Amino acid sequence: MTPMMQQYTEVKRGLPAGTLLLFRLGDFFEMFNEDAAEGSRLLGLTLTKRQDAPMAGIPYHALDTYVNKLLAAGRKVAVCDQLEPPKPGKLVRRSLVRILSPGTTLAANQLDEVRNHYLAAIDLDHGALRAAWVDLSTGEFKVAADSNPGNLLPVLTALDPREVLMPEGARAAWRAAPHDQIVPHALEAFCSTRACTELPGYQFDTASGAQTVMKALGVLNLEGFGLDHSHPALGAAGALVDYASESLCARPENLRSLQEYRSARTLLIDPATLRNLEIFQSARGTRAGSLLAAIDRTVTAPGSRLLERWLAAPPLDLAEVRRRQAIVGELIAQPGPLAELHALQRNVRDIPRILSRLQNRLRSPRELGGIRDTLARLPEIIRALTDLANTPLAEAELAAAPSSPITTLVARIVDQPALRSLLDRALADELSADLLEGGYIRAGYDAEVDRLRGLTRDSKTWLSDLECQEQERTGIKSLKVRFNSVFGYYIEVTKANLHLVPADYIRRQTTVGGERYVTEALKEKEKEILHAEEKVVAREQALFAELVNAVIAAADPLRQAAEALAELDVLAGWAELAREWDFCRPELDESDVLEIVEGRHPIVEQMLKAADASPALGGQAFVPNDTLLDCRGPQILLVTGPNMAGKSTYIRQVALIALLAQIGCWTPAKKCHLGLVDRIFSRVGASDDLARGNSTFMVEMNETANILNHYTDRSLIILDEIGRGTSTYDGLSIAWAVVEHLHHEAECGPRTLFATHYQELTQLEKHLPRLRNCSVAVKEWNEEIVFVRRVVPGAADRSYGIQVARLAGLSLSVIDRAKLILGKLESDDTEVDLPAPAARPKKKLTVKPGDDGQLDLL
Ligand code: ADP
Ligand code: MG
Repeated sequence: MTPMMQQYTEVKRGLPAGTLLLFRLGDFFEMFNEDAAEGSRLLGLTLTKRQDAPMAGIPYHALDTYVNKLLAAGRKVAVCDQLEPPKPGKLVRRSLVRILSPGTTLAANQLDEVRNHYLAAIDLDHGALRAAWVDLSTGEFKVAADSNPGNLLPVLTALDPREVLMPEGARAAWRAAPHDQIVPHALEAFCSTRACTELPGYQFDTASGAQTVMKALGVLNLEGFGLDHSHPALGAAGALVDYASESLCARPENLRSLQEYRSARTLLIDPATLRNLEIFQSARGTRAGSLLAAIDRTVTAPGSRLLERWLAAPPLDLAEVRRRQAIVGELIAQPGPLAELHALQRNVRDIPRILSRLQNRLRSPRELGGIRDTLARLPEIIRALTDLANTPLAEAELAAAPSSPITTLVARIVDQPALRSLLDRALADELSADLLEGGYIRAGYDAEVDRLRGLTRDSKTWLSDLECQEQERTGIKSLKVRFNSVFGYYIEVTKANLHLVPADYIRRQTTVGGERYVTEALKEKEKEILHAEEKVVAREQALFAELVNAVIAAADPLRQAAEALAELDVLAGWAELAREWDFCRPELDESDVLEIVEGRHPIVEQMLKAADASPALGGQAFVPNDTLLDCRGPQILLVTGPNMAGKSTYIRQVALIALLAQIGCWTPAKKCHLGLVDRIFSRVGASDDLARGNSTFMVEMNETANILNHYTDRSLIILDEIGRGTSTYDGLSIAWAVVEHLHHEAECGPRTLFATHYQELTQLEKHLPRLRNCSVAVKEWNEEIVFVRRVVPGAADRSYGIQVARLAGLSLSVIDRAKLILGKLESDDTEVDLPAPAARPKKKLTVKPGDDGQLDLL
C-alpha cells in the first residue's frame, strides 16, 4: 500500500459505518473502493481505477453541489482535506474536517434559508418520551420529557427535524410492536419520513449527558436555565452534543443556552391535523397553498424561520398573544411608517446563521460583510421604531397596554457603533466568498497590507514598463509579458519574430504560435511579486481573524437584536397582511366560546382571488360565514349538505381562524372571539396511507382513537366525513358513537365541528341538547343545483348526490338510471331506530332494508 493509501485507510477506519469518505487529492476529492462504486452510482460519475482500486472523483470547487446530492440521497459524507499545499516527493498532511449528515450541515448552500434545520434525539423509556433538538445553524437548543408521548410528538412533527438520533435497536422494536400499541407506531411513523441514525444506548445516559451538555454550554450547572441535573431528557441532549461534535470535528461553539419545552404551555396541533389543515405544506406537498405561505409576508430569512416556529408552537399564554397583537395593532395604525420600516428590514442579513458559521470555523469575508451591512441599518431601524412607539396611541390601545410594546422590542436591538465602525473601516466594499483570495481588507486600514499591495502594484508597473523596453530593444512590436500558474511570468514571442530574440533570453516553452522566454531580471521580479502576494494574503487572513473575533465577542447582543428583528419582521408582515385582506383583531380570553362573524378561509380566499385574475377560472368571491360554538352551549355543530357545497372548507376555516388567533395574528373575519384552545384535532378526508401498509379505514380509526384519547374540554375538534372508509352502516354507526362520546359529559365538552354526508345523524339533535344542525345551503333550479356557500341553521333536506354527479359530467344514461334506483329506495322504509343518549349501553342501530348491509335493488 502506498503511504497515501495508508493515510486514507486510517481516516476511513475512524468513521462511523455507512459514511462516504471524500479524500482530497490535488484538485479533486476522490472516493475509493466501495465508496467509489456507490458514489459514482449516486452522482453519475465515471468509475476509474488507481492501482487496481476503484476510484471516482469530483472537482474540489464543485464539492458543495455533490455533497448536497449525497445528503439528499440520505447519505453521510466525511470530508478529508489537505492541510498544506502539495510538495513533490512528500506526503501531504491531511485531516478530517467535517462529517456532513442531513441534520448537521451548516454551509449556506446546504440549508434552506427560510426553514429551521433541526437535529433531534429521542428515547422512549418505560412509556415516557425524552427528546432534545438543536438547530446547529442558529444555536437553538431544547429539551423536553413527557410521560405521555402524545404531548410531545405533535411538536416534534411540527418542527420537522432533518435527522433523528435514537438508541440502537429502538426502531426495530417500535416496528415490531403489537398493533394496539399506539406510541411505538406513532414514533415509527414519525421516523419513517426522515433520516435516522442509531447510536449506542449508553450515549443516552442522563448523568453523562448532563456533563456533556454543561461542557458544551460552558457552564458549571444548569440552574441558570431552570433545569435540574436529573432532567430525563439530558441523555438525549448529550447524545445530540456528542453527535454534533463528531460531525463538526470540534465542539459546537454556538450553543449558549438550553431551554425546556413544556407541552402544557403551547397549543398542540396533532400530526394528522398539521397535514389535514395544510399548515406547513399543501396536500400536494408544496409550501404554496399552505397556511404558512398564506400568512408569510416576511422579508428576511430569520423572519420566515420564526414564523414557522411560532406556527408550530402557539403560546397558551394570553399575555404573549396580546403582546404580539398589540404590536401588529400599532403597526397597522401607521401604514406609512410601517411600509418604511419593512423596507428597511429588507437589508437585514441572516445574523443568527452567519454567527453560527463564524463560531464553527466556516468563515468567509462575504459573511462578515453581512454583519457589517446589517449593523449599518440598525440606527435607522431603531429610529423608525422609536418614532412609531412615540406616536400617541388610540385610547383603546393605551388602556390595553400603558407603554407601547414596541418600546420593549426596540430595547432588545442594541446599536454597536464601535463594531460597526471597525467593520466599515476594515472591510472592502466588494467581498468574495473565498478567504484565500485576498483583497477583502480595505485600503488605508492597515499599513502593512498597503505596503505589500504597493509593492505588487509597483511590480505590475515594472512589468508593463519591461514590456515596452523589450519591444523597443528587440524591435518586436508583438512581444508580450504574460503570466500563467505553471510557468509564472514569461516573455512571449511569435514564430515570425524568433530571429530577433536577443541572446540573454532563456527559453522556457515552445507553443504552437511561438516561444516563451524568461530573463534573469524577470525571474528576480517574479520572486518578489509572488512573495509579496503571499505575504499580503497571510496578513489579510490574520486581520480577518481579528475581525471575526471582534464579531464573536459581540455575538450575544447581536443574536438578541436579530431575534427582535425577526419578530418585527413577522409582525410587520402580519400588519401588512391584515390591511391587505381586511383581517380583524381577535379577542382572546379564557371563556368557553368560539364566535366568528363573517369568517373566511384564508387559503381558499386567496386562491379564489388569484383565480379571479384569470377570468377563465374565477368569477366567484369567497362567501363569509358565521360560527358560534360554546363548550356549555352549542358545543357540537353538525354540518350537512351536498358534496361540493363547502362543508369541508367551512369547518377547516374555523380551525384555521382559531389557530391564527392563538399565534397572535389577526384573523380573516369581521369579528372573532375565542376562549383559548389547548389542542386542535382533526380527522379530515379519506387519505390513503398504502405506503405504510395501512388501509384508509385503519388510518381513519387511528386518528379518531387519538382524538378520543387526548381531547380536553378546551380542545377544538374538526371531524370531516368520519366513517367514510368503511361500509355505510359500519361508518354511520362509528360516526354516531363518536358524536355521542364527544357529547358524553353532562355539562360541557370540546368545541366540535362535524361535517357529514350521513343524513341519519341529523336526528341526533333531538337527543343531544348541545348538538346543533346546520347545513351549507344550495338552490335548486331546473333539476340543477347552484351552490350558494351559505351556512344556515337546520339540517340539509337531501343530499343532491345525483345532481352533483351530473355537474361532474357523469353520462345522462347513468344519471337517469340512478334516479330510478333512488326513487325505488326512497319509497322503501329506511327508518332509523333512535336510542336516547342516557340509554347508550343498550344502543341499537337498525337500518332497513337488509340488516346485513346488502341493499336489495329492483
Ligand atoms: P364539501 O366538503 O361540502 O364537499 P368543499 O368544502 O370541498 O365541499 O368545497 C368545494 C369547493 O367549493 C371548494 O373547493 C371551494 O373552492 C368552494 N368553496 C367552498 N366554500 C366556499 C365559500 N365559502 N366561498 C366560495 N367558495 C367556496
Ligand atoms: Mg368535504
